[in-house]
Amino acid sequence: MRHLKIINGRIITPYRVLHNATLLVSAGRIAAISQGDIDAPEAFVIDAAGDYVAPGFIDIHVHGGGDHDFMDGTEEAFHAIAAIHARHGTTSMTPTTLSCEPVDLLATLETYERICGQKSPGATFLGMHLEGPYFAMNQRGAQDPRYIRNPDVAEYRMLTTRFPSIRRWSAAPELPGALDFADWLRSKNILPAWAHTDALYNEILVAFERGYTHATHLYSAMQGVTRKGAARYAGAIEAAFLIDEMTVEIIADGIHLPPPLLQLVCKLKGPGRTALITDAMRGAGMPPGESILGGRHNGLAVIIEDGVAKLPDGSAFAGSVATADRLVRNMIQLAGQPLCDAVRMMTSTPAAIMGVGDRKGSLIPGMDADIVLFDDQISIRCTIVEGNVVYTKEKEHDAQR
Ligand SMILES: [Zn+2]
Repeated sequence: MRHLKIINGRIITPYRVLHNATLLVSAGRIAAISQGDIDAPEAFVIDAAGDYVAPGFIDIHVHGGGDHDFMDGTEEAFHAIAAIHARHGTTSMTPTTLSCEPVDLLATLETYERICGQKSPGATFLGMHLEGPYFAMNQRGAQDPRYIRNPDVAEYRMLTTRFPSIRRWSAAPELPGALDFADWLRSKNILPAWAHTDALYNEILVAFERGYTHATHLYSAMQGVTRKGAARYAGAIEAAFLIDEMTVEIIADGIHLPPPLLQLVCKLKGPGRTALITDAMRGAGMPPGESILGGRHNGLAVIIEDGVAKLPDGSAFAGSVATADRLVRNMIQLAGQPLCDAVRMMTSTPAAIMGVGDRKGSLIPGMDADIVLFDDQISIRCTIVEGNVVYTKEKEHDAQR
């Protein structure tokens, strides 16, 4: 299909919503956007019938879905996760690992390198995100304590040299060697993100100056204001708010953070510095019940109930089962944010954080044709990745008949 034309849409551009508008796709890129019709007689036409036409959703922290986890290390898992999240509007994602056996990490990274040139049945990949293992034991959450350790120079130099697909790495910046680690990542053009940390305000300030410019799942596995004796100290959360240039991401499943905290983050950081993430594990898109966090053969047993994954004793959440459409809907319906701001937090902001804002995350001529159509309830009707329709609701209904 060379040309694709979407008509009768409410097109969300970076600046406004165009009603009854037309968008033309040519050779995988956005060719034109117009308030009226665009003359393209040979184009395949999709009638949006008044639905929103938005940039495709970008999930920069996701572990799995559809009963697969990237830590399974198989091509099947990568393709299945890309497909299930595309049904919920995601057009690109950053596959995320966990603290694990080095051999399992290698398997996942090698699989990524292998599938990179292949055609994806859904979302495309923006490079790997390593979550751990350089974390504060005290703030490990659902990360497996057997693998948590301080930064290991030989290990991270080997991994980042061997696997250029690593684009982001989450670590606790107060650990011995963690600042040198950030210097190394920056020299490789990899985003250092701070996470699972005991750092207080001052340590985050120093870390920011050394390159830790992004907060991984704000509020989860980190401290706010703490008291030692009579004195009170500002925590990592306050640092994220006070440092204007710090970007943050939030698990907006409506469970990890209650609506007032979603609102607070939007109020203090704004939609240009806040990304929505699913942090989804394999249970996304699956019914409630027993599941596994991490690789299928040696992950942690968890339970999915009440729309979230939990440790079996209920002591901590163990990742979400959210999808991107649910995050956008929550920001509108639970947190009272304007639709365009909610969309921005799921599109151009995460694109900018991952350094791909020049080609993804906005509907502007010349950008990749990553597009999603949805109604007022953010129910996804069609997902287009680089000009290819990878999901349509109508087709699914036809198949079910
Ligand atoms: Zn995660």
